[in-house]
Amino acid sequence: MRGTALRGAALRGAAYCRVVDGPRRAPWRAPEKDVASAPSGGGDGAGYAASGRLRALVELVGAGEVFVLTGAGLSTDSGIPDYRGRDGVRRVRPMEFGEFVGSSAARQRYWARSFVGWARFRAAVPNEGHRAVAALQARGLVRALVTQNVDGLHQQAGARDVVELHGNLAQVRCLRCGHRVDRGSVQTRMAEANPGFTAYLRGTVPDGSQVSSQIRPDGDVVLPDQAVVGFVAPRCPVCDADLLKPDVVFFGESVPAQRVTHCFAELAAARSMLVLGSSLAVMSGYRFVRRAAADGIPVAVVTRGATRGDGEATLRVDAPLTPTLVELAGRLG
Ligand SMILES: [Zn+2]
Repeated sequence: MRGTALRGAALRGAAYCRVVDGPRRAPWRAPEKDVASAPSGGGDGAGYAASGRLRALVELVGAGEVFVLTGAGLSTDSGIPDYRGRDGVRRVRPMEFGEFVGSSAARQRYWARSFVGWARFRAAVPNEGHRAVAALQARGLVRALVTQNVDGLHQQAGARDVVELHGNLAQVRCLRCGHRVDRGSVQTRMAEANPGFTAYLRGTVPDGSQVSSQIRPDGDVVLPDQAVVGFVAPRCPVCDADLLKPDVVFFGESVPAQRVTHCFAELAAARSMLVLGSSLAVMSGYRFVRRAAADGIPVAVVTRGATRGDGEATLRVDAPLTPTLVELAGRLG
């Protein structure tokens, strides 16, 4: 996987402090008739429903003060795959935190894969969906922009004050001494220490076989075990420990409590919540949907396929994300 793994585990043990409610606002209501009552079987019933849902989405976002939560689905059009398919089943098993810290061999495997995948991951550029979100923010409609993605593409698209719930793959931290270092410099050192791996960066190996060109969600690629064992993993430039870890939240790890608390405070003051491109399968994001629902804050979910938050959502748009966002930003422009 790319270097990250992600998503944390749940709130188990993490601070789950209740944030004092902000001023109550009038509940948001779906405009016109509820889309669920759209005629069906009339040939263009699906289109009618989609259009009704889009109008409802425009009204919700247009009211402003939106708490936006984005997930992997927003970056798939930038070439970074999701962990899960539309069926919600995880297709990639990321390295979990316990495994990473458990042995040097695991970290060696992690960094070898991440070394090869990084160039492709870093080459990803924002898509129209990222730009649409930045445009909504620039128009003052977004109260908070929280992302589960670790790719930094929101910022590249011009968004500001992005809360990176799971961190950013561009930063690396030493688990022993806390030293932080830029991922690029780690990449340079790994390249110097592993000259034989340049073939992998080109997508080929000395025996002529192809290395999987399938970058994984956390920025790494699949490598054969025999390649991994020869890889020299990076060490901390300060304390020399082989405990450098991308500064992202791995599966099995909790999101820092302060970050969670900040998000809950923003959510409490929001008029609505908008989920973009997330199946909400992990608690680190789903908990905000649950809180919003419990507090009477309307929740709109725009993504393909079923999500864990469908029961809480007041508006569900099952449609391709990028064109939906482009349309939304266009109508609110
Ligand atoms: Zn260190």
